[in-house]
Amino acid sequence: MTYLPPKVIVLGIDGLEYTLVEKWSLEEIKQKSYCKLDLSEYKVIVTPPIWSSMLIGHIDEGLMEVFVNNAKLLGGTGQIEKVWWMKIGQYITSKLFPSKVNYWIWDHIVSPIFRKEDPFEKAANYVFEKNIPNAFQFYEKPWTNGIPGFKGYEYTALNKELLKRAIEGESTPFRKYMIDRYKKDKKLLLDVLDKQNNDLVFWYTNILDSLGHMDIGMPVKKLMKHYLEINELVGYVKKNFPSSIVYVISDHGMQQIDPKLPWGDHSRHAFFSSNTGETIKKPYQLYNLLKDNG
Ligand SMILES: [Zn+2]
Repeated sequence: MTYLPPKVIVLGIDGLEYTLVEKWSLEEIKQKSYCKLDLSEYKVIVTPPIWSSMLIGHIDEGLMEVFVNNAKLLGGTGQIEKVWWMKIGQYITSKLFPSKVNYWIWDHIVSPIFRKEDPFEKAANYVFEKNIPNAFQFYEKPWTNGIPGFKGYEYTALNKELLKRAIEGESTPFRKYMIDRYKKDKKLLLDVLDKQNNDLVFWYTNILDSLGHMDIGMPVKKLMKHYLEINELVGYVKKNFPSSIVYVISDHGMQQIDPKLPWGDHSRHAFFSSNTGETIKKPYQLYNLLKDNG
C-alpha cells in the first residue's frame, strides 16, 4: 500500500496561551496565520465542552449544563450557593487557604470528593456516546489519541491522586506523570504520521493545561520549556508533511489568578493557527474547516 500523508493534521494543545505564543515569539506555532479565539458564547470556560464543540460545530447545551451546574456549586457563576454543606465547605477552604486559590482547591480537590459523579469522567466520551454527528464523519480514516468531551480521553485515577499530592505541596510526581504522558502521546503521533494512512489526524495533549495550573506564576523557564517543545513539534510536523493542512488550536489559555500566587486558571480566549492562511473566530468553527477539507 502506498503511503499517503494526511489531508489534515490538527494539533490540539489544551491550555496553549495566545499571549505567551506572542511574548516568546513561537514562530512555528504561529504558522502562516494565527489568531485569538473568542470564548464569550461558552457559559463556563472548561475543557470538555470546548473541545467537543470543535468536532460538532456548535456548543452542546446538555454537556455545557453539566459544567454550569458544577460551576454553580463552586460559586463560579456569581450565583449564591444554596446547598448548606457546600457553603460550609467553601467557608472552611477559604479559611485554610489564602486568597482566590481556595476556589481552585475547592474545585479540583474538595468538591470532587463530595460529588456523586465527576463531570470530567461523565463528559469523557460524550459526543460518541450520544451519537452526535461530527467532523470525523467527513473522513474515511480519521485518527485521534483521545479528545475530552469527544472520545477516548482518559482522566486516570493516578492522575487525580498525583494532582491531589501536588496541591498538598509535592508536585514532582505529578510533573513527571504529565511529562511521561506527553512523551507517550508524542510517540503515538509520530508513529501514526509515519506508518498509517489516516486522512485526518487529530492529536491532543493537555500538558500545558495541567502544568499551567501550577506553573503560570512560577519563574518563566518552568513553563517556557514545554512551550518550546511544542513549538519544535509543530515545526517538525510542518516540515515533514508539507502537503498536509496543519491546524494548531487550543480550548483556552492560562492566566494567573492572583499576582502573589503561582497558581493559574483558564483565560477567556483561545488560540488558532493554520499553514494555509485560514483563520476562524470561535473554536466551534474548526468544524467547518474540517468539513470543507474532508
Ligand atoms: Zn483545557
